[in-house]
Amino acid sequence: MTEKPKLAVYWAASCGGCEIAVANLHEKILDLDAALDFMFCPCLLDTKKKDIEALPDKAIAVTLFNGALRTEENVEMANLLRRKSQLLIAFGSCAKGGCIPALANLSTKEDLLSSVYIDNFSVDNPSGITPSGTTSFPEGDIHLPALLERVKHLVQEVDVDYYIPGCPPESHQIWNVIEVILSGDLPPKGSTIGCGNLTVCDDCDRTKEEKRITAFRRNYEFYPEPKVCLLEQGMLCMGIATRNGCGAPCTKANMPCTGCYGAPEGVSDQGAKMVAALGSIMDIGDTTGLSESEIAGRVDSFLATIPDYAGQFYKYTLASSTLGGRVGR
Ligand code: SF4
Ligand code: SF4
Repeated sequence: MTEKPKLAVYWAASCGGCEIAVANLHEKILDLDAALDFMFCPCLLDTKKKDIEALPDKAIAVTLFNGALRTEENVEMANLLRRKSQLLIAFGSCAKGGCIPALANLSTKEDLLSSVYIDNFSVDNPSGITPSGTTSFPEGDIHLPALLERVKHLVQEVDVDYYIPGCPPESHQIWNVIEVILSGDLPPKGSTIGCGNLTVCDDCDRTKEEKRITAFRRNYEFYPEPKVCLLEQGMLCMGIATRNGCGAPCTKANMPCTGCYGAPEGVSDQGAKMVAALGSIMDIGDTTGLSESEIAGRVDSFLATIPDYAGQFYKYTLASSTLGGRVGR
């Protein structure tokens, strides 16, 4: 009997949502199992790193690698799986653009450890111990992989063949990608797959008029009209700067798109695209006769209605953005 092509799914710094999206294939998992040898997935299967190390190079047909690179272990596994895989796919927003783990690049590693383990009202740690290196216990040594100075996305460490966006990728799109892989009819290397080439606005069936926004409101402040564009109602919906393919489930549920599919085709920086779009729809009223400082004051008042610029505009793409996050203190 011919061996089935091997499939690996690995998680680095991620939340587990990408694995849940794979499990959400439901009965298609059986089709996947019939076509592929699903042999490595730390949260579902008991395969060890040494089993992967023992494989010949390129023995794995496809690895779906989710998660950003936060630790030395993440980097080691990225290199190992790159060596062992014919196709290495950055699977989900953390691997593609850093996603929420990369927001940590706005702080230093020391600040992060301090706010989690020391300067935290729910922690009792008078000796100021932070996890690091090797700790000996009577039962044996525990070795913790070191944190990197900065969170990286996958292509900053290894060569990547394809990208699948989403936080997490929608399950129907994962299946579409599996079918394309099985057909062998793959797009050019480096393509973003399992998605569309337009924006979420193109998939959103809310009515759109001319957008003029005087201030933003948060989700908890009002209940938006169900058929009217959320951005026009003052919700900071990222659909205009986000790749389509998810089917717009958030706006269908009366929630703004937060941008998890990343920048649309041809756009390199999702946050910059959104900021540029906001610049053209911001309404600060009639400025005739106002001084420059009065106009600046109105712009500041408008911007003050956006509570968290980085978390809003770069929630999914900070590591791959032009800014990349703050360096050092
Ligand atoms: S901005 Fe949001 S609500 Fe408006 S059309 Fe685009 S995706 Fe839909
Ligand atoms: S609507 Fe936006 S946030 Fe929601 S799944 Fe689609 S891309 Fe992600």
